Amino acid sequence: MHDPNCLFCRITQGQIPSRKVYEDDEVFAFHDIHPAAPVHFLMVPKKHIASMAQVEAEDAPLLGRLLALAPRLAAEQGCNPYPAGGFRLVVNTGAEGGQEVHHLHIHVMGGPRPWLKG
Ligand code: AMP
Ligand code: ZN
Repeated sequence: MHDPNCLFCRITQGQIPSRKVYEDDEVFAFHDIHPAAPVHFLMVPKKHIASMAQVEAEDAPLLGRLLALAPRLAAEQGCNPYPAGGFRLVVNTGAEGGQEVHHLHIHVMGGPRPWLKG
């Protein structure tokens, strides 16, 4: 379930401080420490899944839950309404995919442009 050496497992368990956005029994969300946009937080499953490359069929409901929650949290965190506003969801996967922390996470970015990246 948890990897004691994993940064995001330690964050979801409260062992490392974070600026929490949301928490339930399966999901944790917190502000990115180096925001690339006016709104930038990360949504993670509490279950340790290293990346999208390790996702299995049994994880589909959990991933669906994360995705379905994203619009609500994005709005709560200040993303402007669709279609003039909106948000970007990014899941970096593996070294060539730009992944640095090996616990599956969805970047939720939004707010007025310009952003630091893209
Ligand atoms: P990725 O490159 O997709 O693995 O993204 C990892 C993200 O985690 C980066 O945007 C980092 O800024 C962010 N990050 C790293 N350490 C922390 C931390 N302790 N608290 C919040 N965000 C973090
Ligand atoms: Zn983990």
